[in-house]
Amino acid sequence: MAEQKPSRAAYQREWRKRNPSNSRKYHETYMAKNRDRYLEMRRENYQRNREDRARELREMRSNNPGIYADTIRNWRAQNPGCSAAHTAVYKAIKKGDMERGPCCICGKHPTEAHHPDYCNQLDVVWLCHLHHRRLHADQRRENEG
Ligand SMILES: [Zn+2]
Ligand SMILES: [Zn+2]
Repeated sequence: MAEQKPSRAAYQREWRKRNPSNSRKYHETYMAKNRDRYLEMRRENYQRNREDRARELREMRSNNPGIYADTIRNWRAQNPGCSAAHTAVYKAIKKGDMERGPCCICGKHPTEAHHPDYCNQLDVVWLCHLHHRRLHADQRRENEG
């Protein structure tokens, strides 16, 4: 299913084709002309979005008391040993017994600890956020058949 969904890049390409006035060049010219105004607008937007998001989050929390606790509980139940393994890794790093490495695929930082096997709590593979997510997405696909 996931493969058939058009990617965001493809969608943007399509969109740009259909809206030539919104092409990159147009945007750049516009930006050069209205730089100050644009920056100000962006600042305002950012500020407003941040306030909106904070308010939405507050409302959601008050409408759904316990939703976060439930999510965490469910995740722990589905991933036995997972949170314990992560705690063990971060404790070891803090103590200096272990070092956080670069992503084993692209070599970038920062990285997250991935456990090929939760039984070996300190046997981890370091992956950047992107490659960590990809790996889990691949695993999910494999599990689903
Ligand atoms: Zn990576
Ligand atoms: Zn992982």
